[in-house]
Amino acid sequence: MTSITEKNTGASRAMRHVLVLGTGGTIAGCRREGAAQGYVAGQVGIAALLGELQGQLPGELPGELTGGEPGGRPPAALAGLRLSAQQIAQIDSKDMAWPLWRVLAQRCMQALADDAVDGIVITHGSDTLEETAFFLHSVLDARKPIVLTCAMRPADAPAPDGPQNLRDAIIAAAAPGARGVLAACAGRLHGAVEISKVHPWRLDPFSSGDAGAIAYVHAGALRRVRAWPASAVRCPWTRIEQAAALPRVEIICSHADAGGHLIDLLVRERERLCGTGGPAGTPAAHAVDGLVIAATGNGTVHQSIEAAIGRARAAGIAVLRATRCGEAGIAGPRTGQGAQADACDGRCASELSPVKARIALALDLLAAGPGNPENGGS
Ligand code: ASP
Repeated sequence: MTSITEKNTGASRAMRHVLVLGTGGTIAGCRREGAAQGYVAGQVGIAALLGELQGQLPGELPGELTGGEPGGRPPAALAGLRLSAQQIAQIDSKDMAWPLWRVLAQRCMQALADDAVDGIVITHGSDTLEETAFFLHSVLDARKPIVLTCAMRPADAPAPDGPQNLRDAIIAAAAPGARGVLAACAGRLHGAVEISKVHPWRLDPFSSGDAGAIAYVHAGALRRVRAWPASAVRCPWTRIEQAAALPRVEIICSHADAGGHLIDLLVRERERLCGTGGPAGTPAAHAVDGLVIAATGNGTVHQSIEAAIGRARAAGIAVLRATRCGEAGIAGPRTGQGAQADACDGRCASELSPVKARIALALDLLAAGPGNPENGGS
C-alpha cells in the first residue's frame, strides 16, 4: 500500500497521480453459487482490480502501479499516469454506515491536501453510491476530482463492466481542471447532487434526471457538457471528525391511504428517550432528530402525514420535504410558501432526492448542534 502523504520527486511529478480507494461493491465481487444475487460483493482487492487494467494477473501486483512501466501493458489512455491504491473497506454498499463514511472522508481530505495527488477514484457498490457521493460533496471542498465508480457485473463475470468504468473514472480523475465529486458509470460522468440509481440491474443504472450528465468518456477521451460541480460544504470538518454518529434522521414516505402512525411512534420514542420519564442515563442521541418526508409530486403530503408533522415539529423534530419523483426536485411556490410548506416549516430540499435530503438534514443538525463553537457551543 502506498502512503498518500508520500511526495513525488521532481522527475516523476510530470506524471499525474491518481489515488484509488477501494471500498468493495460488485466491481470487486465474485460469483458464488447459492449467493443471493449469484455473487458476493467486495471480494477482490483494489490492487488486483487495478492490475487487471494493467494486463497483469491478480496476486502479482505491487501496491503502486505506474502506467507505462516496462513489462506492464497499460491501456493507451492510462499510459503516463501514476496510480496508487488503498483498500479502505470490502463491503456490499447496502451496508454503508457512518464510521466508514468518516474514514473515507478523512482519506479524501488528506489526499486533497496532498500536492502529490491530482485526483481520487473510489470504487463503491452502486446501491448507495449516490449517498456516499452526496455525503462527500457536502463535507469536502473538492478542489480536485473525486470520482466514484462501480459495476453491475462481478469482477469474474465473463464480460465484466467494472474495468471500463474504473478506467473511465481514472481518466476523469486525472483530467486537468476537473473538480468536484462525480460518479463514472457506463460512459457517463454524473454530479453528486443529481445522480440516482434508477434501475436495479441494467449496466447503466444511473440517471441525473433533467440535469443530465456532466461529461461523457468515450474511447479514452473526456467530453464535458456542463460545468464541473462546486462542492457545498454544510458542516465544519471538526464536527465530522468528532461525531460518533450522525444525528438520526428517518425517511417517511407520503402515499395514498397514508397515516401518521410511524411519525407518532417516533415522537413517542423521542419523548421516552429525552423526557423525564425515560430510563436514567438513556442517551438522547438515539432519539430521532429529524424527518425527511418523501413527498408526492411537487412537494405535497397526505393530510394525515401533514397533521403528524405538526406534532413532530411541536416535539422538537426538524422536518424537511423532498419529492418522491426521481427526475427533478421540487419547484415553484411550494418550495417556500403555501399551506403545505407552512405545515412543514417551509423547508424543502428543492433539488435533492429523499436519501440525499436525509444526509443534508443530518449534516445541518450536526453543524448546528451543541459543541459547535460557531454556534456558541462549548
Ligand atoms: N449490492 C452491490 C453494492 O452496492 C451492488 C453493486 O455494487 O452494484 O455493493
